[in-house]
Amino acid sequence: MNFETSVLHNQNKKKRTIKSKVTPIYQTSAFAFSDLEELEGFYQGNGNYLYSRVGNPNTDELGQLVARLEGTPEGAAASSGLSAILAAILSVAQNGDHIVAADDVYGGTFHMLKEELSSLGISVTFVSFANPAEVGAAIQTNTVLLYTESITNPLLRVEDLTQLVHLAQKHKLKTIVDNTFATPLHCQPYRLGVNIVVHSATKYIGGHSDVTAGVVVGDQELVERARAKIVNLGANSTPFEAWLTCRGAKTLALRMKAQSANARALALSLKENEHVETVYYPLEYGEHGFGAMVTIKLAETVNISLFFKSLDWIKIVPTLAGVETSVSHPLRTSHRALPPEACAALGITDQVVRISIGIENAEDIIAVFNQAISKSI
Ligand SMILES: *Cc1c(COP(=O)(O)O)cnc(C)c1O
Repeated sequence: MNFETSVLHNQNKKKRTIKSKVTPIYQTSAFAFSDLEELEGFYQGNGNYLYSRVGNPNTDELGQLVARLEGTPEGAAASSGLSAILAAILSVAQNGDHIVAADDVYGGTFHMLKEELSSLGISVTFVSFANPAEVGAAIQTNTVLLYTESITNPLLRVEDLTQLVHLAQKHKLKTIVDNTFATPLHCQPYRLGVNIVVHSATKYIGGHSDVTAGVVVGDQELVERARAKIVNLGANSTPFEAWLTCRGAKTLALRMKAQSANARALALSLKENEHVETVYYPLEYGEHGFGAMVTIKLAETVNISLFFKSLDWIKIVPTLAGVETSVSHPLRTSHRALPPEACAALGITDQVVRISIGIENAEDIIAVFNQAISKSI
């Protein structure tokens, strides 16, 4: 071999004995085959890999991890929560079909359902899932799917999934639940009969605000269909993002327990503050907390602009679920895409603040909020 060739075709002679403790990052766009039989073997389903957009050990590991946590037979990773949601929906609905979706879904999901699905011939009706009669009344002859979130954003309503599954089965519909806010630690919708569970792994599963990723888990057949959509739409995750997400997920239980306990403590404290009109937090779901999001509606006595300036070390961030506490203003971020009337109907006003609670000391978190409120009156 000449120099130019040698520099490309070096091999690690010890390779066959490498057993790394953690999964390496398969940072490769494609996989090599030693002969045509091995290549043919791939198409016969021997479990090898071909091309990273189609499948990669790291993205598969992420899909399988969440499937395991949610108790589903299969899982597939996607490039973002939103692409996971799109793939999940397209695995169920096609041209001519109709979807009934909760009117308080995540802003990005609302926008996608409203703006993108109509061009594919899929229609969507948004109703309040807080009222099962409204959901039932919205079901048409061409309805195929009920879509909602296990804990809604930003007012943190906990969906009655058993009731929802019952309604769906009665009408022979599929159900998709976005379980991002609850995480599989608090809620496992598939075990309650939901067909597909989706996650923005960008949030708690990743947990460190350093990746964008999504996951679809559920029935084998539906996930295989969702995976085909992910592949055909070019929406797979990438080796490094998936690897980082799996690394972050190792501490999901520890983080979520600490964050939920902190969230509950903050919710209880802010309930006692006379300048907080409403605290939205599912307090009735146990003494250890249920999720790490707390939303508050500040009284009119509080100057909202001043409040956001007085939060000391707490950053204003238009996302959630990191290990650091952060705040967002739903009206100006997640719900910006919604018409003002829709926001008003949902109760999302200028005084509403969404708090994503981190793993700091609870007393420190509580002190910042109470102090910011007293500085803004
Ligand atoms: C962030 C989020 C999404 C979208 O996920 P991306 O990873 O940003 O695409 C969907 N649903 C919920 C509940 C979210 O919080």
